Amino acid sequence: MAYRPFEGRVVLITGASRGIGRATAELMAERGAALALNGLSAPDVESLAAELHDRFGTDCLAVPADVADPNAVSALFKTLYARFKRLDVLVNNAGVLADWRLGMIPADGMSRAVQVNLIGALEVMQTAARLMRRKRAGSIVNLSSIVGLRGGAGQSVYAATKAGLIGATLSAAKELAADGIRVNAVAPGYIATDMIAHLDPAIHAAHVSSIPLGRAADPAEVARVIAFLASDEASYVTGQVLGVDGGMVM
Ligand code: NAD
Repeated sequence: MAYRPFEGRVVLITGASRGIGRATAELMAERGAALALNGLSAPDVESLAAELHDRFGTDCLAVPADVADPNAVSALFKTLYARFKRLDVLVNNAGVLADWRLGMIPADGMSRAVQVNLIGALEVMQTAARLMRRKRAGSIVNLSSIVGLRGGAGQSVYAATKAGLIGATLSAAKELAADGIRVNAVAPGYIATDMIAHLDPAIHAAHVSSIPLGRAADPAEVARVIAFLASDEASYVTGQVLGVDGGMVM
């Protein structure tokens, strides 16, 4: 029998148009979820919604929005509520890389990374929590990074946003537990998505050589961990930061 733990559940995934977000959307669709798919580009999330509907019969809604814009986030949730009247799972995945060494950090790049990765993620999380509280149930999975735990040379800005998201996850988990809402984070290591595709081959090789499992991950390997935390399989798990890093954190 097909494994469909998300049957009857509504899942919002931010940054769903590619990479880890897209892999998560495909897995959740296969496992029975109704999906609200966010991304920056309307055509990208609309075509993904159509594709998942065709492949899995999924009830899919495209909700393009810049998560860094609070008015756009508010409009996103109005559209979602009008269609589904509930939200069971948030996968807070939208993010941008910000790689600059100290002394070279542009003010606008720093501000954008904080706006998207931290402030946007907080805005999405608090709006989702309002909706979840009505049912006194829900699960939130935030996409942090191993860099938020361990730091990375040239990644002070990115690491600060991802470490900040861990603080937000732990605080939200404490605050929302009484409402039956679980909040966890995943901390991916080195995942083969467009986010890292631009890296110089020598830097890529150096990253891979630092991974005990000896390879970058496929985005689907992160999606399976996100799906676990989002599901009732993890019904007694909250306030955790789960590494998906091939052993990099050791
Ligand atoms: P990606 O760049 O392939 O995809 C990011 C997605 O977020 C895209 O769909 C993009 O359109 C969307 N997005 C970006 N800014 C947005 C905004 N302002 N509003 C709405 N959507 C926006 O990235 P990925 O590798 O799939 O990463 C997904 C998440 O995982 C990110 O939060 C990233 O920081 C985190 N992460 C990735 C890695 C990795 O190695 N790839 C490692 C650790 C953590």
